Amino acid sequence: MLVLFYVLFASQMPTGAPDTRSVPYSEMKVLIRAGEITNATLEETAIVGTLRSPEPDAPGLVRAVTPQQPDPTLLPLLEEMDVTITAEAPTQVSPLYSFLPWLLLIAFYVWLTRRMMNRGMGGGSLSGLGNLLSGRGSKPTEQAQRTTFADVAGQDEAKREVSELVEFLRDPDRFQKVGATVPHGVLLMGPPGTGKTLLARALAGEADVPFFSTSGSEFIEVFVGVGAGRVRKMFEEARKQAPSIIFIDELDSIGRTRGTGLGGGHDEREQTLNQILAELDGFSGKHAVVVLAATNRPDVLDPALLRPGRFDRHVTLSLPDKRARRAILDVHVRNLPLHANVDLDRVAAGTPGFSGADLKNLLNEAAITAARRSGSDITPVDLDEARDKVMMGTVRTLAIMPEEKHRLAVHEAGHTAAAFYSPGADPLYKVTIIPRGRSLGGTHMLQENERHTLPETYLETQLTTLLAGRAAEKLLLGSVSSGADDDIRRATTLARSMVARWGMDPDIGPVDLRESEDHPFLGQQIARPRTFSDETAARVDQAVIALLNSAEAQATQLIEDHRSEVLTLVDLLEHEETLDREAITGCLDPEKAGTTIGSHTDIPSVAAPE
Ligand code: ATP
Repeated sequence: MLVLFYVLFASQMPTGAPDTRSVPYSEMKVLIRAGEITNATLEETAIVGTLRSPEPDAPGLVRAVTPQQPDPTLLPLLEEMDVTITAEAPTQVSPLYSFLPWLLLIAFYVWLTRRMMNRGMGGGSLSGLGNLLSGRGSKPTEQAQRTTFADVAGQDEAKREVSELVEFLRDPDRFQKVGATVPHGVLLMGPPGTGKTLLARALAGEADVPFFSTSGSEFIEVFVGVGAGRVRKMFEEARKQAPSIIFIDELDSIGRTRGTGLGGGHDEREQTLNQILAELDGFSGKHAVVVLAATNRPDVLDPALLRPGRFDRHVTLSLPDKRARRAILDVHVRNLPLHANVDLDRVAAGTPGFSGADLKNLLNEAAITAARRSGSDITPVDLDEARDKVMMGTVRTLAIMPEEKHRLAVHEAGHTAAAFYSPGADPLYKVTIIPRGRSLGGTHMLQENERHTLPETYLETQLTTLLAGRAAEKLLLGSVSSGADDDIRRATTLARSMVARWGMDPDIGPVDLRESEDHPFLGQQIARPRTFSDETAARVDQAVIALLNSAEAQATQLIEDHRSEVLTLVDLLEHEETLDREAITGCLDPEKAGTTIGSHTDIPSVAAPE
């Protein structure tokens, strides 16, 4: 290719003859006028003169570029000096020459695109090019260690659904003989880190079949059509090696509803999606290929993907409950040196809302903490530290002024007191004014049992606890601060749900008045069109405000009723910075505690903050 470029471009380059001397046009005219030129050759852009008596060893020809504006005096001058004039026809450059660079570029593009398609490479855009150069093809992903269902803890429902396919993949003939149609497309849905990829790998491991793994985002290439080519190639390869499994992670990145965008990027995505649909439709009973896809955004998927014959079997993986968390911890502690005092049931109890990936991360953080202090095993304190780090971020060293520290202690003592004195609140676990992640302090509670429904009284207690930090500042310091920012946001969201979603306002009643709804897996709010009048919206606002004000009044009352105990707690917290349950009880109910105040060395393994 480079040689071709050289030949073509070199042929267009101007050449200089060795027996010609270049001179300025003015000098050429002087030479003509002096009778030094005998012959003149007029070229398109130059004049070449033959010297009457050149110097020995000097060139016999002189060449001057003619001015762009034709010089009307030149021809009369040449005739006057009796110079023989020869005119040369302009050189005809083939139009091919001007188009050639473009033609070559287009040819190069087509060549590149075809090679990429034929190879069915992984890696998006630029990495695709990298793969092209390294020549990687569409091969099954090697599993370093065979993953089986035993590696997937909890998720019993999902495992049961998927395990039906193991039999089919192991012995497809048995099913084909009796004409049984086995689903080809299975959509795994669930929050991030719940084990969707792990389950797909485990299916391949159990059935002992080749596993073709890719991610939706890897199909989006710079060149339109390349992604579609790679999909075709991957399915072709999987069919050749059937029985086999194709796994497409992040299906939503290519599988979004079509026709929503303009421009090349969308064309590429839509072509890729169409190709996937065509491949799924092309499966007949003969092909023992199962396509698993994972997403945590099923709401944005193109409905065409979910039609019968495509991804028509849906398997949901949810966040693990306490028992499942314990089982996941058991899987991941297999090779970790745990101290005899570690109680994994407590760890599981103290990690509500953690996914499998979070739990794995927690254990890894604990192992790192143990290694940092040169410990030989992982202790309950390492796990406690790791949990706080995973949930709230690393400890920050901030220069906090004494008045600010006092305000922080008052604020946190307010939350703690409200939680302590409100019947039905979750038990306190610890309170701290050490800054971590984005927060400057925190009051942590530990749910004793997983709650599946939330009673109204429990929610009211939560509102009171959330607003008690601000109430304490107002009551004990005479002013409020911006420290209640997140408390107010959370309390308002909760109060709005109580009124507009759960019908807990007696005047408004059981009407769905939400203006947004929870995303099924990602914990975000998705806006939805309002279906009620402005007056109703105003009534909802009034009810929310009333609930919040009443919760703040309740918190103020609780703190007022126990002012001296709360002040003891503030003092100790300011001094110690972190207090455990026993120390808190020692301040707020000394009789019940009956032990020394201020000990917070025996911190339980892990617990959940609220
Ligand atoms: P994403 O949606 O972010 O792609 P995912 O649902 O595919 O996440 P995985 O990648 O399968 O989640 O999980 C990440 C890691 O978390 C796994 O490799 C595994 O180590 C651990 N994990 C997740 N769920 C489980 C589980 N149920 N049992 C054991 N380990 C788990």
